[in-house]
Amino acid sequence: MVIKMAGKLANSSVELIGDTPIVRLSKIDKDYPFEIWAKCEFMNPTGSVKDRMAYYMIKEAEKQGKLKPGMTIAIATTGNTGIAFAAWGSYFGYDVLIVMPEEMSYERKLLDMLFGAKLIYTPGGESDAMGALEYAKKLEKENPDKYVVLDQWDDEANFKAHYETTGREIIEQLGAENIKGFVAGVGSGGTLVGIAKRLKDANPRIITAGMEPAECPTAEGWFKSGELGAWGRHEVEGIGDGFVPSLVEKYKQYIDDWVTVSSDEAIEMARRIARREALGVGISSGANVVAAIKLAERHNFGEGDRVVTILPDYAARYFSTRLFLKRRLGTEEHERMLELARED
Ligand code: PMP
Repeated sequence: MVIKMAGKLANSSVELIGDTPIVRLSKIDKDYPFEIWAKCEFMNPTGSVKDRMAYYMIKEAEKQGKLKPGMTIAIATTGNTGIAFAAWGSYFGYDVLIVMPEEMSYERKLLDMLFGAKLIYTPGGESDAMGALEYAKKLEKENPDKYVVLDQWDDEANFKAHYETTGREIIEQLGAENIKGFVAGVGSGGTLVGIAKRLKDANPRIITAGMEPAECPTAEGWFKSGELGAWGRHEVEGIGDGFVPSLVEKYKQYIDDWVTVSSDEAIEMARRIARREALGVGISSGANVVAAIKLAERHNFGEGDRVVTILPDYAARYFSTRLFLKRRLGTEEHERMLELARED
């Protein structure tokens, strides 16, 4: 074990957000001339990249007077966002209501409950995430003194979290002049555009790219031809919500390219990362690493060129998926697991 520096000293758990390590995937990248570097966002306190955004959005909403003591934070989410808000909302003294499409996995629902949130389910399908958001907004409209919707898809604080922290940290860790490319999968798009702008501000030659599941290349179509790509079901939870997030539209000028990765490619790479790198990461991490390789190959990255990406969360969040199982668990199997959930 190489000991480089002591870990962080934190006076409270909130200080554990961010300042994550960046690691070279030195066994995976042996097969290529370029180097692959990945930011370990699974090392945030709730286990995902979303802690940064949840903290920034809660603090900004308080500053703007939208979020006041006694109110309930209502969050529409398909996953990690809910877990991060459940945790940090409770931490800062708020009740948290998570509105999510019914087909989300039992692991995510159990984690929301562990952190103290209440859950409401909306129908799944083509407009999963949007349906949940509309439901949350209706609650807020009917009861504005009780609920405040914090909307990750349309909140500048989401961009800011990554511009001010993740992007800055990557530059401090590697040096902007030593980075050739950067790619990240798009859920809300906050990770992509916040980091892309920070990197471009420091070194405009860095090639930045968004990534989506190949089965659902909505924003790729929009990015390349102006016409939305077709919606399709995929297995890369956390990205590919089926629409172009407004943050991505707003900061489009900082994105140079777009890459797609299939669910099979993502799952196989996540398994390979576990076995070769001893990093048990989630499916979107596998997708990001495949995207990094595709971007670097497409732009002819050579010896020693560095492509950077993100490992957004950890494998243990995907017990019900093909990361572990021969087939994804069905709705009834998820429900059976949830029958045992503690509700106290
Ligand atoms: N991967 C996972 C597992 C996620 O939960 C998310 C967030 N939805 C992302 C990637 C993408 O992050 P962002 O919302 O910043 O685009």
